[in-house]
Amino acid sequence: MAEFKDIIGQEKIKEHLMNAIEQDKVSHAYIIEGERYCGKEFIANVFAMALLCEKEGVEPCNSCHSCVQCLTKNHPDIIYVSHEKVNTISVDDIRSQVTGTIAVKPYSGRYKIYIIPESEKMNDNAQNALLKTLEEPPEYAVIILLTDNASALLPTIQSRCVMLGMKPVSDKLVKRFLMEEEKIPDYRAEVCAAFARGNIGKAKILARSEEFDKIKDDAIAMLKHIHEMDISELAGTIKKMNEYKLEINDFLDILSVWYRDALIFKATNDANGLIFRDQLNNIKGTTSRSTYEGIENILEALDTAKKRISANVDFNLTMELLLLSIKENCDR
Ligand SMILES: [Zn+2]
Repeated sequence: MAEFKDIIGQEKIKEHLMNAIEQDKVSHAYIIEGERYCGKEFIANVFAMALLCEKEGVEPCNSCHSCVQCLTKNHPDIIYVSHEKVNTISVDDIRSQVTGTIAVKPYSGRYKIYIIPESEKMNDNAQNALLKTLEEPPEYAVIILLTDNASALLPTIQSRCVMLGMKPVSDKLVKRFLMEEEKIPDYRAEVCAAFARGNIGKAKILARSEEFDKIKDDAIAMLKHIHEMDISELAGTIKKMNEYKLEINDFLDILSVWYRDALIFKATNDANGLIFRDQLNNIKGTTSRSTYEGIENILEALDTAKKRISANVDFNLTMELLLLSIKENCDR
């Protein structure tokens, strides 16, 4: 089943697309922008399904011939544009899958819909080829560009598309989704919602990931002891962090949430609002060892470490500087 009402949050996008269908004012081109896993493709699929559904109404019926074809990804009038090279959508990809076929009328529906995931990977030639089609699209064509970075698209492309930006979903809605739809227990759902930062797909991945649990346990073990670690233990910790190189942002997020909890607890002395409230004694330990300023310094150091990682600064050096600055600030 896929309907607009299954989309969690994203009220503005839903409203826009449903109005377009209801008032028969569907545009020829859309950009849906949002980070990885946040559900761009799901929204594009529901919209395409609704446009092609044989029954009256804004929501797709999920049972007509067209809807069944959509659900099994076999609809001849929905083209998912793929690319051969991992990091590039080439002009050949666009020619063979979009501009070379768009003049052929839809097989069965009123629309012919092109969905281009990772559209920021189109190189300039590919974008220019697509632009020609966007300038004079056939009446039945709807092109949906999905991207995590719309600014990588030519301004001339952007200006011909309706821009729909995905917004972070509230933690409350993410938690409810995990509990009701994914059957994740209460506390775990809350922790995963906090780490997903409004990204529904990421929340789902975290909730099912054993790796995330392991990273979380290792991070907590480190946080409990970092104030008493000597240099060789710090080096051992950095070695361990190398195992999580790919998930290092998750690891750093866990540390950030921990110190944010510590800051809140220091200010309020109330455990209710804390993400790590099952670790209250250890949070208390952290707050008693650090001043407000110290915790703020640590949070700043975590931000700096994240920036360094994304700028490809040496991993071991970044972690060493981070751990030293945490240690320095948890010894008042
Ligand atoms: Zn239908």
